[in-house]
Amino acid sequence: MNDSQIVFLKSLVRNVPDFPVKGIQFKDLTPMFKNPKALRLVGDGLAELYRDKGVTLVAGIESRGFIGASMMATRLGAGFVPIRKPGKLPADILQQSYQKEYGVDTIEVHADSVTSEDVVVIHDDLLATGGTMLAAYQLIQKMHPAKVYINFLCAIPQLNGRLILPDDVEVTTLFDF
Ligand code: AMP
Repeated sequence: MNDSQIVFLKSLVRNVPDFPVKGIQFKDLTPMFKNPKALRLVGDGLAELYRDKGVTLVAGIESRGFIGASMMATRLGAGFVPIRKPGKLPADILQQSYQKEYGVDTIEVHADSVTSEDVVVIHDDLLATGGTMLAAYQLIQKMHPAKVYINFLCAIPQLNGRLILPDDVEVTTLFDF
């Protein structure tokens, strides 16, 4: 992805102050996803980061992470695994709880979704404080995959989310704010 393509994508991100609560600068990616050229660029750009890495599965975090994860999976010839909020997955599940600003949250995955042969990219749309992705990483690790990568469409580096993610895991983003 070249600089002008990144400028183009960033121009389609809408900053919404004080959503969902006062003090948060919410990065609304829907104008970018709505633009056909941008949507294709995002899919191509994300997949390009993982060409030739032997990725077998892309795990997306509900719900905004599903968009990029499925585009990546189809381009890489990999499968898609949903990481979901509690009570949504019908078969045997694994759970991981994590601390949010107010209270505890939980995410779930099907217990048979990843094997020790799999090379997994975990994808979410945005890295803020990193709590959600850390929990997703711990959840996927319970199934002992061969290798795990972490990817975001974009990140807010000032929130230092990278610091709570494991040092020895490769983390990529298409662009940062
Ligand atoms: P965190 O666990 O703090 O890294 O938050 C990550 C999750 O919350 C992602 O799934 C994002 O979709 C969402 N999120 C958190 N902060 C923002 C923000 N400022 N703008 C848009 N999405 C956000």
